[in-house]
Amino acid sequence: MTELKQLAADAAALIKKSRKTIALTGAGISTESGIPDFRSKGTGLWEKFDPMQMSSVSALLSNPKQFYDFNLKRWSSFRDARPNIAHIALAELESHGFLYSVITQNIDGLHIKAGSKRVWEVHGHLRTCHCMKCRSSYPYDELLNQYDSGINPPKCECGGILRPDVVLFEDPLGVDFNKAIEDLAGCELLIVVGSSLRVYPVASLPRYARKMIIINKEPTPWDGSAQFVVNESAGRFFEELLSQLGI
Ligand code: NAD
Repeated sequence: MTELKQLAADAAALIKKSRKTIALTGAGISTESGIPDFRSKGTGLWEKFDPMQMSSVSALLSNPKQFYDFNLKRWSSFRDARPNIAHIALAELESHGFLYSVITQNIDGLHIKAGSKRVWEVHGHLRTCHCMKCRSSYPYDELLNQYDSGINPPKCECGGILRPDVVLFEDPLGVDFNKAIEDLAGCELLIVVGSSLRVYPVASLPRYARKMIIINKEPTPWDGSAQFVVNESAGRFFEELLSQLGI
């Protein structure tokens, strides 16, 4: 048996035994869908830009035009991405009764596109936006259409600036984060996929789970607390896992 096959078999055994399994995913699960993460060596966005400067509330407030020039094209490209085998595998695990929910840090919507039903998007999503002044809600396309027709920053009818419903640096987390913590009560197995586990408060969530496995190409600060760590591509691991589970 190859090492990956063995690890997938070990994971399958833990999943079959666990009465409540939850997945915690990060940007690394979507790199195989063509979306760069923040921290991978060589390709991560943090090597080129400081998201704190470019994607924070203060960046939006101090220079909304630059904020949209930097972020909007990148975010909008996420919407053309397609789920990969790892997203699809998590949806399959849920539909076969092996997975309770997915907690994701991603804003790309790929878990929902893959068919996962119980998904907590703790850093928001790109389906809607809202006015920073009157809080009216609009579809995300309103923001995009205005930007594409040369209106930057995009505005609400009341004159306030529109912003997408994603959690920026310096924003508090929303309802989905509380729902995620509620779900984690009684979690017997947490499967972490493609997260450096360095962005807080999400990086504190592993402490709620009894057991954890981590599938991440690079080491994380939580590796020592995991049952085992798979330093492999999530796609390859999940392909093997599905076959081990007979799905
Ligand atoms: P991160 O960039 O900090 O870490 C990603 C991790 O995934 C890295 O450690 C990397 O080694 C690993 N990885 C990359 N490709 C992988 C693969 N194919 N298989 C397995 N592991 C792989 O990501 P994070 O922990 O999610 O934190 C970054 C923040 O950036 C999050 O808050 C997230 O909201 C945001 N973000 C989201 C997207 C998205 O929506 N797809 C993209 C970039 C950043």
